[in-house]
Amino acid sequence: MNRRGFIQISSVAALPILLGIFPRNKGKQVPYKINVRSNRSFGHLLREKANVKPTSTLSTDFIIVGGGVAGIAAATVLRDQDFLLFEGDDRLGGSSASASWKTTEFATGAHYELAYPETFGQEVIALLRELDIISFNSETALYEFNDKAYIISGDEMEQCFNGELLLSEVMEAAEGIQDFNKALKPFIGQMHLPTRLIGEEYQYLNALSFKDFLEGQFDLSADLSQRISYQMLDDWGAQIDEVSALAGIHYYTCRPYNTKDVELFSAPNGNAYFTEKMIGLLSNPEAFVTNTFVRSVRETADGVEAEVLNKNGSIQLVKAKGLIYAGQKHALKYILAQEESRFQNSYAPWLVLNIVCRKGVDFEKWQNDIITPELQFLGFINSSKQHARPSEFDVFTAYYCFKEEDRGKLVEIEKNPDEFVAGTIALIEEETGTALSDFVAYVNVNVLGHAMPIAKPGYLSFNDVPSFSDRIVYAGVDTGRLPLFFEACDSGLQAGEKILNNITKNKANEL
Ligand SMILES: Cc1cc2nc3c(=O)[nH]c(=O)nc-3n(C[C@H](O)[C@H](O)[C@H](O)COP(=O)(O)OP(=O)(O)OC[C@H]3O[C@@H](n4cnc5c(N)ncnc54)[C@H](O)[C@@H]3O)c2cc1C
Repeated sequence: MNRRGFIQISSVAALPILLGIFPRNKGKQVPYKINVRSNRSFGHLLREKANVKPTSTLSTDFIIVGGGVAGIAAATVLRDQDFLLFEGDDRLGGSSASASWKTTEFATGAHYELAYPETFGQEVIALLRELDIISFNSETALYEFNDKAYIISGDEMEQCFNGELLLSEVMEAAEGIQDFNKALKPFIGQMHLPTRLIGEEYQYLNALSFKDFLEGQFDLSADLSQRISYQMLDDWGAQIDEVSALAGIHYYTCRPYNTKDVELFSAPNGNAYFTEKMIGLLSNPEAFVTNTFVRSVRETADGVEAEVLNKNGSIQLVKAKGLIYAGQKHALKYILAQEESRFQNSYAPWLVLNIVCRKGVDFEKWQNDIITPELQFLGFINSSKQHARPSEFDVFTAYYCFKEEDRGKLVEIEKNPDEFVAGTIALIEEETGTALSDFVAYVNVNVLGHAMPIAKPGYLSFNDVPSFSDRIVYAGVDTGRLPLFFEACDSGLQAGEKILNNITKNKANEL
């Protein structure tokens, strides 16, 4: 969610309903429809068809596996080429996808972006300028968003419920905030995106934890530590002692939050706003094939081959000159057998609940942080402060980030979401003192078992995009990058350029 770090609490009261990972709401009947989406849905079909061979063959020049931000950004590079992009889900966008109910659209994952300093990577900036999404503002020296309807206004931005305290933001009056700001000051403006541009002199910060770094600078209070952990979970999927110092410092200093109002952009469809514009650049939307999972990839003497499994159960063999693998890397060892050990990432499991309500609920702010002792529930976003919605509904989008070892419990929620959903609504009501349940019309639950790679010490890679060979190149945030739109986009653009160069180079060598 939002990151406004340089600020000015103390006591942490505890009144959560959370018990373990399940909100307690035993036996309550829910009077609204619940829809559960899960990226595990292909598993059953994959097992059932494991020994079934492809029945048809197709040829193209390039294959892109995965239609998240990285895969789609790679497609913009290949726009003049013959390519096919395969996405396992029923929609494009990955963790930046959107969904809708009746007339109301909402983000099922990533939902905001912030203005960019001039020092950020020029490739992504150039694409966003070409898409007419951003322009340079010489007064603020930032690339800002052109669609001003989706800028969240400062006075409606944020509130934080911390036990019995209502704060203007997570870090307000935290114990030791001045020491924290002082420790981070030298890094302001030095933390670029993509992270491959971060100077060598700062790369040592990748080797230690954020907690160890801060404890080396000043006496870190339990209060400050908990609030930093909340913010780390919110963006990096793990707490202060698990993420690297570089990831932590980057969060607070990559934009000039201390001196400027950095524009925050959040469209109704969240970051699908960006992917939809990218897809709009291409003249061949039929090249994006959803409901199709790439179950295996292999290199041949003169190219690559991929077996794709369609949701209707049919299997095709697709031949190409080159392939970009922009799917999550935890499953890679099953898809490209030789890549058993390249990516040793840890992933944070997330749950996103879009609670669609009839008009009438009044939360004063867009972002509502709720700090509970367990730090699994990460508050909710209130769409009514986002922009004027021409809809009879408002959407309250709530987030949970779980520990890796709790991933299995998501399956229980997937099978029986009623109690969890009702418990979450009760938790929001209790923490904020605002009645919600009578207004709820529909709830979308998005289960993301491997939502984002965790930037643990040693995780970030400052190299070019990794590749298996000249013909198989990797993209995606889980190639040693931070889980952010800008990183995903940059990795896709880099991978697109790399595969094009490699294939052209191979062709020239053959002549
Ligand atoms: C809940 C949440 C909120 C976030 N909020 C923000 C935010 O507000 N701002 C921000 O900048 N970042 C945010 N992020 C991070 C950001 O969304 C991601 O870093 C970025 O979208 C990742 O893009 P990607 O393309 O690397 O990967 P993914 O989005 O994971 O895309 C990978 C895609 O590949 C597909 N796939 C995988 N394997 C296969 C296969 N074998 N065959 C076919 N398809 C396959 C998957 O279905 C998926 O669609 C958030 C992330 C989460 C989880």
